[in-house]
Parts: sequence; C-alpha cells; structure tokens
Amino acid sequence: MAIRVNREKCRGCGNCVFACLEDAIEIIDQKAHIKEEGCTLCGDCYEACTSDAIEMEAS
Ligand code: SF4
Ligand code: SF4
Repeated sequence: MAIRVNREKCRGCGNCVFACLEDAIEIIDQKAHIKEEGCTLCGDCYEACTSDAIEMEAS
C-alpha cells in the first residue's frame, strides 16, 4: 500500500493535517506533503480530504 498527494488537486486546506494523529503531514507551499516515516497508512487523511487529492494505491 502506498499513499500520495495529487498536487494538482490539493488546495492546501489542511484538513488532512488535522486528521493525521501521527503528525505525518505538513503543508509546504500550499500543498500537503506526507512524511513517509511516521505514516501508518491508516487512511484518515484520505477520508478527510474533500478535494479527492489523497490517493491510496495497492503496491
Ligand atoms: S485535505 Fe486534501 S486538499 Fe486539503 S491539504 Fe490535505 S490533501 Fe490538500
Ligand atoms: S495515512 Fe494516516 S498516518 Fe499516514 S499521513 Fe494519512 S492520516 Fe497520517
């Protein structure tokens, strides 16, 4: 499983940052960045993003 941010869809709202209990997301230049270390792939940010910008894919 992998998770990534679609930068074209991300509008930098920060919803995912608040949703992430692991503090694994930061906003840089109005775009969310997921830090690979710390992310447990829980999917909470995916649920929180109303812009459909977070993508989870089987790997
Ligand atoms: S919730 Fe979605 S649109 Fe908002 S900052 Fe996070 S990835 Fe970007
Ligand atoms: S999948 Fe979970 S731990 Fe990883 S960035 Fe999203 S909310 Fe945080």
